[in-house]
Amino acid sequence: RAKSAGGNRYELADPEADARAITRHGLTTALPAALERGEFFIEYQPLVHLGDGSVRGAEALVRWLHPQHGVIGPDRFIPLAEHTGLIVPLGRWVLEESVRQARRWEARTTGGIDAGPLRVNVNLSPMQLTHPGLVSDTVDILEREGLEPGALCLEVTESALIGADDDLLKPLRRLAEMGVDIALDDFGTGYSNLANLRRLPVSVLKLDRSFTQGMQHFPADPVDLKIVEGIVSLAHSLDLAVTVEGVETGAQADQLRELGCDTAQGWYYARPGPPDRLHELALADATG
Ligand code: C2E
Ligand code: MG
Ligand code: MG
Ligand code: MG
Repeated sequence: RAKSAGGNRYELADPEADARAITRHGLTTALPAALERGEFFIEYQPLVHLGDGSVRGAEALVRWLHPQHGVIGPDRFIPLAEHTGLIVPLGRWVLEESVRQARRWEARTTGGIDAGPLRVNVNLSPMQLTHPGLVSDTVDILEREGLEPGALCLEVTESALIGADDDLLKPLRRLAEMGVDIALDDFGTGYSNLANLRRLPVSVLKLDRSFTQGMQHFPADPVDLKIVEGIVSLAHSLDLAVTVEGVETGAQADQLRELGCDTAQGWYYARPGPPDRLHELALADATG
């Protein structure tokens, strides 16, 4: 409740804003114990090859099963974890859990049918990038779980790398040299200089959902199509693969395939879900 500030105009604070503030604070202080108690879990969303429709892997997306508030999405707590630094141990847990899961997919065959290697994409926060343990933690985890580096892709947002100097890029370069893929996430939302792409150790561009949304209507805006076409051809000329986010309809998938995109992700294929479901989807398409 705000004090009245000279006069009586501010007698009541916005009760909703109040509730949000309390929740933010409450959530922030609850994060460390939540990590210790194992309240986080990961859902996996398939990455589908646009050419043949096969499942090639999945993006790991963290969620918080809060004892009072139920499932809380990452957009609500990742910024808080970044603010307090908890993102470093939380991110390490996500990486470890995801790598372990990818290894399980690899090891599991059902009825003698090999679904093919399933790769895993893990999101990295800017703070993890500057954390000195990033390379050694990643190497340790891959070795301990027995996963080859090529089965891991680390997603870094375009905005985290804007204006990145060599010190920031060095750990990513080391990881890329080991065979870990680096993807530029949410591409097209920042202000990156396209020429700058050449200095980044990335092998995948993830085109932001906003581009896909622009194709929701048929026929799609021809200018939007030209932009995507231009990005795809630039990416391919730099040897980068293009993944598109937020594909919600078959028409969008067709359009994006025609524009030369390589991989797609979105509700049209599957929502994020439990790890076993990914294996089932991959098996289903391996057996027809
Ligand atoms: P992102 O990395 O860009 O992940 C894609 C987001 O788009 C996910 O939201 C996914 O559920 C959502 N999505 C996928 N397909 C569709 C679709 O067809 N339509 C629509 N409308 N949305 C779709 P989610 O799971 O809520 O994650 C939000 C963001 O939180 C992620 O965006 C990522 O930046 C961050 N995040 C998630 N997990 C982690 C993590 O382990 N570490 C870090 N640092 N960030 C994470
Ligand atoms: Mg991502
Ligand atoms: Mg993304
Ligand atoms: Mg996004």
